[in-house]
Amino acid sequence: MALSVVDLYKTVLPRTNCRDCGFSTCLAFAGKVVSEQLPLKNCPHIPPDLLAASEAELAAQYADGKWLRRDLAADALKWAKERAASLNLADLPARWGVTSRFLS
Ligand code: SF4
Repeated sequence: MALSVVDLYKTVLPRTNCRDCGFSTCLAFAGKVVSEQLPLKNCPHIPPDLLAASEAELAAQYADGKWLRRDLAADALKWAKERAASLNLADLPARWGVTSRFLS
């Protein structure tokens, strides 16, 4: 079974929001762990047996590519490039409401 952010928050993390991991809430930390941006061991308050079992479960879902780490800036750039490539520059004046008397 894969661990979602909510699963990790509810079943693994202490939910004390102590900030020892550098995040203001356990839920924020869980999001970073599930998206493969931080290791679970950055929370020092998880019992060793639970940490080991959860790390094994996370490793399996990372290997399966579930909830992959996303580079949002790269995603945005890719989207912008695709949008720009699909634009027909000849149509822009009409889209902007520019009439032909301004173009000549
Ligand atoms: S160190 Fe652990 S218990 Fe403390 S806020 Fe981070 S995840 Fe929650």
